[in-house]
This record gives sequence, structure tokens and C-alpha cells, in this order.
Amino acid sequence: MNYLIVFIGSFILSYGNVVAQEGYTTLRKNMVEQQIQARGVADQATLSAMLNVPRHEFVPEALRPYAYFDQPLSIGNGQTISQPYIVAFMTEALRLKKSDRVLEIGTGSGYQAAVLAKIVDSVYTIEIVEPLAMAAAKRLKALKYANVLVKSGDGYHGWPQKAPFDAIIVTAGADSIPQPLVDQIEEGGRMIIPVGPHNGVRQLVLLIKKKNKIVKRNLMAVRFVPFTRDN
Ligand code: SAH
Repeated sequence: MNYLIVFIGSFILSYGNVVAQEGYTTLRKNMVEQQIQARGVADQATLSAMLNVPRHEFVPEALRPYAYFDQPLSIGNGQTISQPYIVAFMTEALRLKKSDRVLEIGTGSGYQAAVLAKIVDSVYTIEIVEPLAMAAAKRLKALKYANVLVKSGDGYHGWPQKAPFDAIIVTAGADSIPQPLVDQIEEGGRMIIPVGPHNGVRQLVLLIKKKNKIVKRNLMAVRFVPFTRDN
């Protein structure tokens, strides 16, 4: 009798889990169609990554019902996970190739790093708030993103030991473009970074490093949590 109850109980639990997972799959599909494709993101690798990375695993448990909403969400320590559309837009803008090595500044939850990890060869990501860096590293490991390396520290200096990078993505709003990051872009490489006055609306800037010059383009106005510095 007891066995039967345990059996039925575990059946109900696993069934509940399957239903929840299917629910998330549907929410993700709607997110991609209605928030991302509808606004013009068309890169297949980006869309496929957004469809496959379980965003709900990257937000605090209490916020899971809102994981696929069209907005950023709080992840603790005063920080946020970016709005899905912004993650997709920045990812597409980098024009990534399978063989690319990418540096991210501002690991946060690890969500953007996971999206990148689905597309490129390897992702190096730096987070200044140590508890966030540790939580993200643990989460990415549990979800089996083996090609992401997380480091805690001030991303202003980049990661010289792993440079140069084919692409750099900064997911915190900076007052100006950190020169060490520019120096760590491979020739032909790209960088995307929100730049502008503190606490204001910033411009998402795309830099392309050519042989003898840096080409810069403003892509759109955005709001981001600030890029901070270790003192
Ligand atoms: N990419 C994240 C969102 C990050 S929010 C995600 O997908 O969840 C921006 C993050 O940048 C915050 O976690 C903040 O602590 C971090 N940050 C701010 N300044 C930084 C710096 N100088 N170096 C590294 N990380 C920084």
C-alpha cells in the first residue's frame, strides 16, 4: 500500500514537472515570436539560443512566473537580468561565429553568458559582485554550460590572460568606453556597450576594430544598471 502511494505520488510529481517544463517551452516560444522576432531580430543562431536557454532558471524562485515577461527582473544585490529583447538584440549585433571567443563584463545571473555559450566556442565572463559571480558559476555548471568561465573582479581591466577576443559585450552602463577592453578586441572583432551619463538613458554603442581604425555606431537608447569600479 505504502509503495503504491509513493509510486502514485512520484508519478504525480514528475507529471507536474513535465507540465511545468512544457509550460516554460511555450512561454519561451511566445517570448521569441512576440518580443524578439516581432521587433526585428532575425539571426537564426540568436533566436535558437533564446528558444533553448531556460531563462526561468536564472531568476530568483519567487520571480519565475515572470521570467518570460517583456522586462528586466531583479536578481538581488541591486542588480537585474536584462529584458529578453535586449539580450537578443545585443547578441545579434555582435555577428557571432561558431569559432568565436567572447568576453562578457557583467555576468549578473549568467543568462546572457548562457545565450552566448549556445552560439560560440567559449565565453569568459567577469562579475564585480562576488556573491553574484559565485551563484552564476554554480548555476551555469549545474545547467552544463561547460564552455563558460566566470571570474569575480572589476571588468574594467578585461581579461588580458585570455585576450584577444572576437567579441566583447558589456552589460552594465558605462560613462565612457574602457580602453583596456578596446585593446583586447581582435582585429575585425566587435564590442557592444551601453555608454552615457550616469543613471541616465545611454546609447548602445557598437565598435568594430578595423586594421587602422575603430568604427563606432550608436544602435539605440537603453537603460542599464551602472558599470561600477573596484576602489
Ligand atoms: N548579463 C547579466 C545582466 C547583468 S546586470 C545577466 O544576463 O543576468 C549588470 C551586471 O554588471 C551587474 O551584475 C553588476 O554587478 C555588473 N557590473 C557592474 N560593473 C562591473 C564591473 N566593473 N565589472 C564586472 N561586472 C560589473
